[in-house]
Amino acid sequence: MQFEDLDLIPPVLKALKEENYERPTSIQQQAIPLALKRHDILASAQTGTGKTAAFAIPIIQHLAADRAQQQKRKVKALVITPTRELALQIGESFTTYGKHTDLRNTVIFGGVGQKPQTDALKRGVDVLVATPGRLLDLMNQGFVHLRDIKYFVLDEADRMLDMGFIHDIKKIIASLPSKRQSLFFSATMPKNIVALSATILTDPKKVEVTPVSSAAETVQQYIYYTNKAKKRELLKHILTDEDMDQVLLFARTKHGADKIVRDLQKSKVKAAAIHGNKSQTQRQKALNLFKSRELRILVATDIAARGIDIDKLRYVINYDIPNVAETYVHRIGRSGRAGEEGVAISICEPEENAYVKDIERLIKQRLQVMEENPFPQTDRPMTAKEKKEDEKEKQRKRQEFFANRKKRQSTSGSRGPKRNGRR
Ligand code: AMP
Repeated sequence: MQFEDLDLIPPVLKALKEENYERPTSIQQQAIPLALKRHDILASAQTGTGKTAAFAIPIIQHLAADRAQQQKRKVKALVITPTRELALQIGESFTTYGKHTDLRNTVIFGGVGQKPQTDALKRGVDVLVATPGRLLDLMNQGFVHLRDIKYFVLDEADRMLDMGFIHDIKKIIASLPSKRQSLFFSATMPKNIVALSATILTDPKKVEVTPVSSAAETVQQYIYYTNKAKKRELLKHILTDEDMDQVLLFARTKHGADKIVRDLQKSKVKAAAIHGNKSQTQRQKALNLFKSRELRILVATDIAARGIDIDKLRYVINYDIPNVAETYVHRIGRSGRAGEEGVAISICEPEENAYVKDIERLIKQRLQVMEENPFPQTDRPMTAKEKKEDEKEKQRKRQEFFANRKKRQSTSGSRGPKRNGRR
């Protein structure tokens, strides 16, 4: 199927051509025709499937048609998404796909001053992309009202609930006109998500692409088994591959992410971290440098990485193995997007071996073990004999320590009177 088969208006087709999109992705093929027919949609699709265009394009087409008869700009489409990064990217997507229409969008999110956002709203926008907290805040202050909304998108619904936004979402929904088209997107569809969707959608059509358990087929997945103490050196070894000019590296903690960056910088590798302790400006700067390839490594925590969208990202490195198998799938989903080939490399220390088993069970395939590994994992459970010897050795060290301590005490005791004597 081609974009030409989807009943798209010429300005949108032109924009897609300029983006070098060749053909619609699966979610786009399924969702765009339904949304153009004004159906509500319940879509299960994760980031990387092209879902943003799947909802943005039909909304742009509806709005472009509405605009012709409309005088003053009103906020007619609202997209709610959990993170600032996602909000910014969705805003950019509306700008890109709608660049040959006269539609305007703006993005509002917390953690930054509200003035530029309220100024943009005052100038008038057709599409508003928002994170829930800041939207409610601006609604309460009277800067936004939702009475003209005709198109509503709830994006990444499962993450929204994970992040505790349920009450905010309910308040927002209560302020929407009941006559509207709603599009609901979630990577997973557990019971609570389906229940939430039922309060938002009317007679929805269901669309679905690659469930989370099927790791992107275009991603080659490798694993290095090593020891904790050797991880840094192993990482440097992996990065000697010059093909890896743009790598998204995952770390479990913010602190861990910063440590990796410091270490890489010491070895003259250009790296920066994005995580919750970095300001929005710092994150945006790092992301821009990474996209323009001035930064080779972007180190991210799972939360910060949500919604990062980098065209044709090839390499993902898991500096540690996530303890939730689905997180692994989300992480490697950052590479090999929209039909591009990707490579995911995981580094595993002994305590994480069990997590790898969980992941392999979920994705129903084995990660390919890297043979060429200068720092192979040495830890393994000790045999009974080794345990006995280890115990003996520890006992010997304990005795030595106490013996030395005694010696130290007796020498310092003998020096005491002398020092006193000198006074
Ligand atoms: P998303 O799932 O919306 O985050 O999109 C993932 C990435 O795929 C983004 O970088 C889009 O620009 C890109 N993309 C979306 N649709 C297409 C398409 N039909 N062809 C090529 N790239 C696309």
